[in-house]
Amino acid sequence: MAIVSLREVLQDAMVKRYAVGSFNAADHSMAEAILEVSEERNVPVILSVAEVHFRYLNLERFIPYLRQRIETMATPVVLHLDHGLSLDTIVQGLDLGFSSVMIDASSLPYEENVALTSKVVELARGFGASVEAELGHVGGGEGNLTDGTEADPSMFTDPKQAAAFVRATGVDALAVAIGTVHGPYKGEPQLDLDLLKEICSLVDVPLVLHGGSGLSRGHFQSAIANGITKINYFTEGSLAAVEEVRRVLATGTPIGYPDLIGVAKRRVKEIISEQIEIFGTGKP
Ligand SMILES: [Zn+2]
Repeated sequence: MAIVSLREVLQDAMVKRYAVGSFNAADHSMAEAILEVSEERNVPVILSVAEVHFRYLNLERFIPYLRQRIETMATPVVLHLDHGLSLDTIVQGLDLGFSSVMIDASSLPYEENVALTSKVVELARGFGASVEAELGHVGGGEGNLTDGTEADPSMFTDPKQAAAFVRATGVDALAVAIGTVHGPYKGEPQLDLDLLKEICSLVDVPLVLHGGSGLSRGHFQSAIANGITKINYFTEGSLAAVEEVRRVLATGTPIGYPDLIGVAKRRVKEIISEQIEIFGTGKP
C-alpha cells in the first residue's frame, strides 16, 4: 500500500536535504502524469487536488479512484488536499480519503488561524492524515496569468510567530511566505533566505514553499539548502502543456482528441520529471 501522509515522505527529505514535489491534478490525465512519473523515476510524490479545482471534478468518484490507483503502486504517494479553505471542505476531504490536508487560514487573523488549524489537526488525527497550514500569506493566484504578482514583504512569515503557531496547533508541515507568489511572477522572484534560515532554526516541522513556478534551479537549491522540503509546483507545467498543444495544432496535421490530450500529458510529465531532478527527490 503506497498511500502515505506528509509525515512519512518529508521526514526522509528533512534528514537528507531534498524536497518532494507537490503537483496539482485537475483531471484524470494530470493525475496519471504525476503518478506515472513517480513510478518511472521510483520517487515519492505528492499528488495535490486544490479546492479551487473541485469544480472541474466529480470529487466523490475521483478521490476514491485515486486512492485505489495509488494503493497498487510501489512508490509512496501522498494524496493531498491543497488549499482547503473551510472546515467543511476539510471534513469532506478526509471522508473521501485524502491522506493529507492543507487548511489555508492564512488570510485570517493569527488567533483565528490558530483556532481553525488546531481544529483541523484534531479532526485529521482521527483519520491518520497529516495537516499542512500556512502562516504569513503567499499572494497571487491562477487568475493572474498575464500580469503576474509581486511578493508583499509585509505578508512574510514571522519566525517567532511560526514557532509559536506550530507549538499551538500541532501541524505536520508549515507553508511559509518568504518571497514566492502563486502563478506567474511580476519581475524577478527574490527569496528571503535569511528569513527562511531563521524560521527553519526555530520550527521543527517540515517547511513548504508554495509558488514554485517561475523559480530557477538556483532558487530551488538555496531554498532546499535552507530548510524547504515540500515544493508546490503547478502553473508552469499547466502553461507548458498548453504551449505544446498550441504548437502541435499550428502544424495543421490532423489530430484526434485522445492524442491531443496525450500531447499535453507528455509535456506535463517532462516538466514534472525535470522538477523532481532539480528537487533531488529521493536521493540516497
Ligand atoms: Zn499554494
